[in-house]
Amino acid sequence: MIKKFIRKILGVKDQRDPTEPVIYGPDQHGIDPKLVSPNAVRVTQTLQEAGFKAFVVGGAVRDLLLGVKPKDFDIATDATPEEVKRLFRRAFIIGRRFQIVHVMFGQEQLEVTTFRGNADANAPKDEHGRVLRDNSFGPQHEDAARRDFTVNAMYYDPATQSVLDYHEGVEDIRAKVMRIIGHPEARYREDPVRMLRVVRFAAKLQFTIEATTRAPIPVMAPLINNVPAARVFDEMLKLLKSGHALACLKELRSSGLHHGLLPLLDVVMEQPIGMKFVTLALESTDNRIRAGKTVSDGFLFASLLWHQVLEKWNAYRAAGESPIPALHLAADDVLDNQTDSLALQRRIATDMRDIWAMQPRFERRNGKNPYKLLEHPRFRAGFDFLLLRCESGELDAELGSWWAGFYGGDIAERERLVNSLGRESQGGGQKKRPRRRSPRRGEGEAGGENVGGAGAPDAGPASGSTEQ
Ligand code: ATP
Ligand code: MG
Repeated sequence: MIKKFIRKILGVKDQRDPTEPVIYGPDQHGIDPKLVSPNAVRVTQTLQEAGFKAFVVGGAVRDLLLGVKPKDFDIATDATPEEVKRLFRRAFIIGRRFQIVHVMFGQEQLEVTTFRGNADANAPKDEHGRVLRDNSFGPQHEDAARRDFTVNAMYYDPATQSVLDYHEGVEDIRAKVMRIIGHPEARYREDPVRMLRVVRFAAKLQFTIEATTRAPIPVMAPLINNVPAARVFDEMLKLLKSGHALACLKELRSSGLHHGLLPLLDVVMEQPIGMKFVTLALESTDNRIRAGKTVSDGFLFASLLWHQVLEKWNAYRAAGESPIPALHLAADDVLDNQTDSLALQRRIATDMRDIWAMQPRFERRNGKNPYKLLEHPRFRAGFDFLLLRCESGELDAELGSWWAGFYGGDIAERERLVNSLGRESQGGGQKKRPRRRSPRRGEGEAGGENVGGAGAPDAGPASGSTEQ
């Protein structure tokens, strides 16, 4: 009795038998069956009719309990991958080490996994304790214990509309808490990516991270460096495209997790203009995602790293390089630095370079230049990027609104806009000496000698046209 009271005061939960789930019926969990994909129901039904256990599992159950339509459905079963494959016409076994089955219905892809067993003590690990391979099948309660967080470890059976909960996930959903299953240090050591996942889910779901789940993160954060770069990159992308990127990055930073993810992000975020730019970029990304629009990976990373490019661009120009080659050198430096740690795919790096390289061209508004730029296949991304630069105070707002007018205008309007530019801006593209900055703009934030990244090397309205 006293023991129970002390445990209650300390917030220690009574130990339940972790091999027996708590079962919630439809009245208790309140899941709306209309939110369940009919194909997920087909898959579980087919498996059950063949004598197997089958449930919707993981993030989909979490989202259903929160009343949110899941973006995809994972199915867990006691059938082996071969047994699953035999039951469906369009089913493909994926993965060599741990096989899963992709079952396709039109465009929808369902991922069917066989219950996994307890992590084998002999499973191969790297020198930091990260599990490298662990491929055993097992009973359902072991599958539950291997999942990362309590709210991700529930099973929903569409046939009976019941939720099976081995780790008090329903309670944690109600309390809006992210809680890791098992011993936090051990679970992060096995797979350090779980530290990024908890941050993402907490920001996305607006949940708090339970104290013992959070406590080891700042200390264990460096373990992320041992995870293959491609996996960290995938997780970073999920995080940046969660619709809550800004909140995620703030959380990553306060947990010390940003090191090694985006080198120098910390430095960038501490500079007022850099911070403003990154904040605006992420806000617009979050808004797009929440409105169901797409976001280009290249644009995202081009934004996050822009102030590093600017800083280096300034430095190369201060060292006597002319603007365009200086920009390419700066882009090379930043991309080289990031590719190792981020596994930036070539496709993304190419997009980033395109977006950056287009920027000085927005300042050449004379003659045919703006018409040529409009034909660039990545114009829209470059233009959106320009608008962010204006909005962040890096460039004069006039440049952005001129381009908005030009982009949206008809032939006559475009001509009018080009003609409306002063003689100086129309400089015909010939190379001139850089113009001295007028005292009006001389507040020190865009001075030529400033190589600290506080402003564009050529931050004045249209002044770039005099230098091309
Ligand atoms: P999302 O909404 O981002 O898809 P999710 O929870 O479905 O969230 P997935 O990456 O699709 O995340 O993983 C599906 C399920 O697999 C998770 O809910 C969790 O149960 C389990 N899982 C995924 N990654 C891990 C991991 N690193 N460690 C343990 N379990 C994991
Ligand atoms: Mg998922």
